[in-house]
Amino acid sequence: MVLRNTDTLQRSLLAIFGITILSILVLTLLAYLQARTEEQNRELASLGNQQIVLVQSVVRSVVQAEASQRAYFLSGDPIYQEEVQATVTKLNDEMARLERLDSFLPVTPFNHTARLLELVSMRVAQLESKLAMSFEEGLQAVRQSIQSQEGKQMMDALRDIAQLINEEERRFIAQRASMAEQNSRQRIHLLLGAAVLNLLLLSVAYRVVRKATGRSAQLLDEVHNKTHEIASINEFSSNLQSCSTVSEAHELFRHYMQRLFPECSGALYIMRSSRNLLHMATSWNIGESPFEDMMEPRDCWALRRGKPHEITDLANELSCRHLNQDSRASLCMPLVSQSETIGMLHLRIEDSELLPVVRERSDAMVHHISAALSGIFLREALREHSIRDPMTQLFNRRYLEESIARELIRARRSGGSFSVVMTDIDHFKSFNDNYGHQAGDAVIKAFASHLQSHVRGEDVVCRYGGEEFLILLTGATHEQALERAELLCRSTQKLEIDSAVTSIPSITASWGVATFPEHGESWEGVISTADAALYLSKRHGRNRVSSAIELTKVTEKNNSEVDSNQ
Ligand code: GH3
Ligand code: MG
Ligand code: MG
Repeated sequence: MVLRNTDTLQRSLLAIFGITILSILVLTLLAYLQARTEEQNRELASLGNQQIVLVQSVVRSVVQAEASQRAYFLSGDPIYQEEVQATVTKLNDEMARLERLDSFLPVTPFNHTARLLELVSMRVAQLESKLAMSFEEGLQAVRQSIQSQEGKQMMDALRDIAQLINEEERRFIAQRASMAEQNSRQRIHLLLGAAVLNLLLLSVAYRVVRKATGRSAQLLDEVHNKTHEIASINEFSSNLQSCSTVSEAHELFRHYMQRLFPECSGALYIMRSSRNLLHMATSWNIGESPFEDMMEPRDCWALRRGKPHEITDLANELSCRHLNQDSRASLCMPLVSQSETIGMLHLRIEDSELLPVVRERSDAMVHHISAALSGIFLREALREHSIRDPMTQLFNRRYLEESIARELIRARRSGGSFSVVMTDIDHFKSFNDNYGHQAGDAVIKAFASHLQSHVRGEDVVCRYGGEEFLILLTGATHEQALERAELLCRSTQKLEIDSAVTSIPSITASWGVATFPEHGESWEGVISTADAALYLSKRHGRNRVSSAIELTKVTEKNNSEVDSNQ
């Protein structure tokens, strides 16, 4: 995304710089052409001025030559004759310059200069022929000829043409000056236009860069948030995988969901092994409207269709039955692992506009989470399997041994105590014989749940053997344990046992109680003392509780009887 943005920025800047460079080139060319035209106009104006001066000089030279010739003819002084020849030479030179100058100037429709040069040439030719006549026929002959008007007419025509050239040239000069001025003005406009255009292009470039950098910063922010989100999801998933129990996983779930979806409230529903019910395992940010504790898979469209289901308007959309009527935008995501639905993640969003963002984030998460949760469920099932008795769901001996060893360390460290109650159903074999094995199983199950329901959460009830059970009463003194055993002994007689097969009479059990540290230094010692106390109860007629103290007394009595017999 950032790369695409940079690419667009580069392309835009390239286009702007291209236009700027092109405009600068075009404007520079135009300005150069303007300057050249202006220069040409100024040059032409200068040539025009030179032409005016030269034409006047030619006319003056013709007049001068005429005057000198007339003076020569009248006086016969040869100095005037030399003067005429010198002026004619000068005139020829001026005419040559005028002709060259005229070739540089634009051609005019009337071609006055050519006419002037023609007239001057004719006049010079006249002067020269008169001079030649004076040499051949004498001064008297030419004196009469200068009386004629012939020379005057030609001079008038010459002056008229000179005047025309003068006027025409001045007009042209004025025209060129105004053109030069116009060119100069146009160049200024052009330069101003170029400056404005370049400023405009620069401001466009600035805006493009600003927009692009703003968008880049926004994109970088998004990338940063996404990375953070992915890191959190990975951390969540890896922490989930390290959870040893389902309840620990639920706690972790709650913690991470609050962190990852602060804008939502939500609940995690877990599919029961029966697969016809889901229970809410945990919820977060609940507020005033709680979620349903239980739901059937058909109550949720996400579970029915096996894909996420989102609702922005409860009134107009296909809503799930587990939703409250005051629910706002919501999202249900089925949690699927290895093609099996293990639960459903339900999110409730206050601001429905955030739904797409929440959807995207939860899409990225559920896959990892489902796999991790499924792993925990599997591990928990295996663990339960290895520590629980499948028939009664009580802990097995292995688990008891771990727990009692821990309890012993705790009691030793704190100087406290713990007690063991051993119990065995009386005459159980006859139940099997009289009512069948199935009825026997029902008795064991009923007795197990009776025991479980009469102890504290921290106590451990364990199926120790066939119809033999052990209760570890953590932190209990011997008196407290005896009291508990007496209560259990009495209540067992009243236990009603349901069996689908047949009606079963009430049962009794025998009990033995021993306590650490009084009745054993090791946990094995305490258990074997409690076992011995239990068999004391059996020997004393069953359906009773025997204490390790009683056992000691009996043992001492037996020992003294043995001693007296000897
Ligand atoms: P006592 O009062 O001396 O304890 O007599 P009892 O008959 O209860 O003791 P005994 O050890 O003679 O018999 C125990 C019987 O329990 C033997 C065994 O078949 C039966 N049993 C052990 N486990 C199970 C079980 O899981 N289900 C059923 N139905 N019977 C079991
Ligand atoms: Mg028994
Ligand atoms: Mg037994």
